Amino acid sequence: MGNSETKEVDLQKLLVQQLESLKQAGLAELPIGATSPDFDFDDVADAAGIRAAAPPAPTAAAATSQRPAPPASKPAAPATPAPESQPPAINITDSWGEKVAGSERPAALEIVNNEVRNCSLCSDLSSNRTQTVFGVGDPSARLVLVGEGPGADEDKQGEPFVGAAGGMLNKILTACTIERNDIYILNTVKCRPPMNRNPTDREIRNCWNYLERQLEIIQPEFILCLGSVAAKSMLQTTQSLGRLRGRFHDWKGARLLVTYHPAYLLRNEGAKRHVWEDMKLLMKEMGIKLPKR
Ligand code: URA
Repeated sequence: MGNSETKEVDLQKLLVQQLESLKQAGLAELPIGATSPDFDFDDVADAAGIRAAAPPAPTAAAATSQRPAPPASKPAAPATPAPESQPPAINITDSWGEKVAGSERPAALEIVNNEVRNCSLCSDLSSNRTQTVFGVGDPSARLVLVGEGPGADEDKQGEPFVGAAGGMLNKILTACTIERNDIYILNTVKCRPPMNRNPTDREIRNCWNYLERQLEIIQPEFILCLGSVAAKSMLQTTQSLGRLRGRFHDWKGARLLVTYHPAYLLRNEGAKRHVWEDMKLLMKEMGIKLPKR
């Protein structure tokens, strides 16, 4: 094979690898000339006169965190995740269990958090983590955000979305007049996958019980999946994120929306307009009025 042919084969290989990684990130099709490269959540926040440090907009704060107090009941029953040799199957067809009273939710979440802290179901993850990253926010939030898994910054700080992707997420939330404290943010897996690789199916299944119980305790009205790992595991599908986004799915009675991962937006400006469309749809359904641009 001549030199130029070798180069061509290498380029083909690179192109295939690049396309594969875009597909993994959730891109169903390549947008050609239809993107808006200058779209930025900063612009939206600027136009609306909102910055990250601004006080919470009362409409959004009220809509995201306040709802009628549920009747008192016992916390969701803990279930023991299966050992590494046999991860549990993911069941998304059950409806919510009994409601946990608002006042009992912090303690109920803490019980699960303690199990997570002591979890060693995935030997690779548990032996490499600095700490587990359980989740943060309002235990009675109407909206829960589900990410993929902690990165290096989250592993250090013990809180989801505090690194570069977290910065982008904060901009999105600010543009939507939402405060981080008024929602709940968690991840599909609670330990950082080494080298920022995607969590494996086994790791996702090992962690599923924790995620399911967090949601069972919070019982949000709305769930937003950030990226294809969260979307595909929550919906138990292999469909691309491009096909899953733009409409609500039912998840045990909650309304689940899927959008691109904030980290993906850092590399793909063109996807921001899609995320903004998804966020506008979510805000409309939540009854949160966005300031006029
Ligand atoms: N990416 C995620 O999916 N979750 C985090 O917490 C940080 C980055």
